[in-house]
Amino acid sequence: MDFFKNLKNIYNKVSEVESTIYSGKQDYLEIYERNIQLEKEIEERTNELNIANKRMLTLQHIWDMMNAARPLQSVLETIVNSIPGELGYLHANIIKKCDDGSEKFMVVLAQSNDVSIKRVERLIKIPFQARKLIYSQDSLYAKSERTGEITQTLDIGETLKSVAPDVSDEIIREVVNGSPSKSIINVPLYTRNSHFGWFNVFSSRKDLTAGETDFLTMFAQQIEMAITIAGLFEEVKAQAVTDSLTGLYNRRYFEEYLKKEVTRALRQKQVFSVIGLDLDHLKQINDQYGHAYGDLAIKTVADIIKRNARSIDTAARMGGEEFNVILPGVDSAGALIAAERIRKALENEKLDTIDHVTASIGVATFFEHSDNIEDIMELTDQAMYQSKRNGRNQVTLAKPISETSWQEVAINTFTDILSKHNIPIKPELANELKNRLQNPEQEIPKEALYSVADMLTQTYNPLHHSGVMKSKVLLAVSLAKRFDLPKDDIDNLRIAMLLYDIGNLMLPQELLQKIAPLTEEEREKIKTHPIIAAREILQPISEIQNIIPIIEHHHENWDGSGYPAHIAKEEIPMTSQIILIVDAYYALIEPRTYRAELTPRQAVEVIKKDAGKKWNLALVQEFINLVDIDT
Ligand code: GH3
Ligand code: MG
Repeated sequence: MDFFKNLKNIYNKVSEVESTIYSGKQDYLEIYERNIQLEKEIEERTNELNIANKRMLTLQHIWDMMNAARPLQSVLETIVNSIPGELGYLHANIIKKCDDGSEKFMVVLAQSNDVSIKRVERLIKIPFQARKLIYSQDSLYAKSERTGEITQTLDIGETLKSVAPDVSDEIIREVVNGSPSKSIINVPLYTRNSHFGWFNVFSSRKDLTAGETDFLTMFAQQIEMAITIAGLFEEVKAQAVTDSLTGLYNRRYFEEYLKKEVTRALRQKQVFSVIGLDLDHLKQINDQYGHAYGDLAIKTVADIIKRNARSIDTAARMGGEEFNVILPGVDSAGALIAAERIRKALENEKLDTIDHVTASIGVATFFEHSDNIEDIMELTDQAMYQSKRNGRNQVTLAKPISETSWQEVAINTFTDILSKHNIPIKPELANELKNRLQNPEQEIPKEALYSVADMLTQTYNPLHHSGVMKSKVLLAVSLAKRFDLPKDDIDNLRIAMLLYDIGNLMLPQELLQKIAPLTEEEREKIKTHPIIAAREILQPISEIQNIIPIIEHHHENWDGSGYPAHIAKEEIPMTSQIILIVDAYYALIEPRTYRAELTPRQAVEVIKKDAGKKWNLALVQEFINLVDIDT
């Protein structure tokens, strides 16, 4: 009995042990499964952390760039280039919306430099960054702009077509079919509450997860921040009133201040003077010692001006090597003293390595020289150039406008032309002619001018007679007077008469003196002389800006068949028309390599034939009256 009882006990015990073991096993299995689950979760979290970390690093990098004040363009390029490779993204770009008043369009500001874009650009020929992209109301762009939300499209072909309709359907098909991109994710960009453009990401997947949206939103915010910071920086720069190199006021401030000074001067009937200063031979200093020493020269001028100016004077660096000082309440005598003090102080300032620098200075005074501020600034400039012409490192007082005679302007112009290195005149001749112009005591200035013009003409036309220049000018002036042209026009005509063929200096001698008939090509080449004169030789000379158009158009015909602009009738300046007819007449009565001279009467006959074609009838009539009296 006991045996069975014991057996049962044992059995029960075994069962107990067994069930304990079983439940332990159950527990164990559960724990095991839980562990696997946990590990999986840990792995996922780690992955997410890794991705998040990578994104943080990308954002951190962008943030660092913005802090380092890198140019916006380079920041944007780094941003778009950090996108491909992330989450299966293939390409990214930043597009700006533009509005030029008449139309809206878009331009690519930055795009990632990857294989997929290279392939597309090979196919579409004109690269995206060189294109003006079309902005259309029913495009993906307009849609995301309206909603302000991230928008995904699977229709890459349609999106491409909407911005570049010139690309053929066939090419678009090729672009789409060969592309690993399956969708475009478009994020609208806003800066300080206004819509700026879009950030596009080309994805290899068709879906867009919530995590991705978060990431791209954060990314777009960085772009917006970069653009906003760059915009603010530009604004701050635009608001700046001082020049960073010298600490003087800048041009913007100077111009504002000048307006106020003029108002004050007019109200209080009080003079003020302007000093204009330009460094001498700065280019040589740059070339010889390097840009840093050029900068040192500029800074030195600024320091000297600061040291020598009164507290109520306003000094500005107008740009480059050009400075202006306004001296309120100072007349021209006082301004000359102040300018001379600056000049001398600069000359005496010992500089590292370059020893010293000098400057050429012009002075003009409001009320004394003109009560028009544009004139004052122009006169200051002209006086400064006069200082340069006379040998630099000196001060020149402006001449009142009315006293600047046409002879002076012409003398200055010839001096400038003869000082140019690019004019093919022998240096000895150039110096001889310059001396003639600069020493008017030996000769009447007008006569010196005529003879210099004659001699210059002879360098490209050896058959030109001395003395002809004077007769040509006098004939032109008589003609102008018959048409009651104002004095200024007549003065301009006198100067233009001396200069109109100067472009020939730049043409080959063989061409100008060719005996055989000219080929079409040669004729065209000769026809460039008015433009050469205007653009290459005369353009830099500020005093004769009104004269350049007269010269440029001295070969336009009345019926529009002339050159270079093919203008007709009243479009052609009257002074240019006069030059053409006088020039034609003298060409006919002078011998040429290819023909003998005509008599005045024969020449007039030739001119009459072209009445209404080359020249206005009235002009021919007056011309005939004039030369008939003379002959
Ligand atoms: P000139 O006596 O006829 O005025 O001769 P220049 O060489 O001073 O005049 P030019 O107008 O031929 O050349 C001006 C030079 O000044 C050219 C330009 O490179 C230089 N320059 C302008 N701004 C700066 C600047 O901020 N720093 C330096 N180092 N050079 C400058
Ligand atoms: Mg200079």
